[in-house]
Amino acid sequence: MDMTREISDAGSSVSQERLIDTVRYLASDELEGRASGTDGSRKARAYIEEAFREAGLVPAGSDGYLQKIETGVGTNIIGRLDGADPPLGEEVVIVSAHYDHLGRSGDRIFPGADDNASGVAVMLEVARAQQALRSPLGRSILFIAFDSEEPPYFMTGAMGSKFFVNHPTVPIHRIAMMIGTDLLGTDPWPGWEGQLFVMGEEKCPVATSVLDAVAGIEGLAIRRLGIHMVEQFPIWGRHPFSDYAPFRDREIPFLFFTCGRPSFYHSPRDTADKLNYEKMSRIARFIFSTTVLASRTAESFRFERDGENLLSGAEVIGEGLEFVLDSRSPSKVFPGYTRLAWMALKWWRPKVRKILAKLRSGESIGQREIRVLERASLGLQSLTVKLLRR
Ligand SMILES: [Zn+2]
Repeated sequence: MDMTREISDAGSSVSQERLIDTVRYLASDELEGRASGTDGSRKARAYIEEAFREAGLVPAGSDGYLQKIETGVGTNIIGRLDGADPPLGEEVVIVSAHYDHLGRSGDRIFPGADDNASGVAVMLEVARAQQALRSPLGRSILFIAFDSEEPPYFMTGAMGSKFFVNHPTVPIHRIAMMIGTDLLGTDPWPGWEGQLFVMGEEKCPVATSVLDAVAGIEGLAIRRLGIHMVEQFPIWGRHPFSDYAPFRDREIPFLFFTCGRPSFYHSPRDTADKLNYEKMSRIARFIFSTTVLASRTAESFRFERDGENLLSGAEVIGEGLEFVLDSRSPSKVFPGYTRLAWMALKWWRPKVRKILAKLRSGESIGQREIRVLERASLGLQSLTVKLLRR
């Protein structure tokens, strides 16, 4: 039986009902926003541990499934599926999602349905679907629910993913690739739907060939962007935004999947009823296939510091700009947008068009043109969201 068929059959065991149940529970009032070190966080942890057990994962933390973050207050949850094939099986592919959120402030609860109960729910489905595979894995797969991704821990030594990289429960040189997921439940805007952004493949040729080999899923558009397109701010410089960053900083290949920040990002309005579960089940099937192919590929993963994918990034940004600026009734399509952001996008459009034409005809572009793409990308991302509100 051919591998593509075997993987897509196994992927069809992804359950939309379970995605809904998981997000509803993690984002329920009972869990009070899952801030690290709280009762709500402990309840979330118990739920995820139980799901790991049901999916047949072997405990791979420092204490069963758990890894206490000694430098902070949180706890990572780590489970493993063994690869069948040494020496390949000694390497690991990580699939991860952070499970903490902002907790509560007085009587306001921040439920964090999209951020990041969505990623946890998808990760759990990816873990469960492995049981439906008929042939063995190559590399082992490590599933990690990271704690303490949110402020005040973000990018400090107390951040779950950073603590893991500093205190890995597997030898760090055996990590072939890290897959990070954050904010998987929404569409950018009505009319521009089904977009799944992936960053990081530009830094690893094998990651690119793995993505190329994943069978397409109807209704899901995989959009490859260089990681700098979402991180590079004017004046501020680089501002990373999720758990991939500590791995990237160690030059470990990574893929970061996200649907982007919705207008209710980091607000009490991030509730379970807002998410697109049909899209999430497509995403779970896509990430499942990516994981299995990454586990089985015989090629070795290598990080390339200077890797770029400017053309595909420019295509995405160009399409987003045209979509936004062609809208007949922006105040309806983009509620809360600012006139200033709109004007800025108008200013970038002709420049982006020129750059895109150049890249399409095979010409190379310079640093200044790359900056234009980064700023147009930030303009799009900040149309309805305050990006630096964390
Ligand atoms: Zn998040």
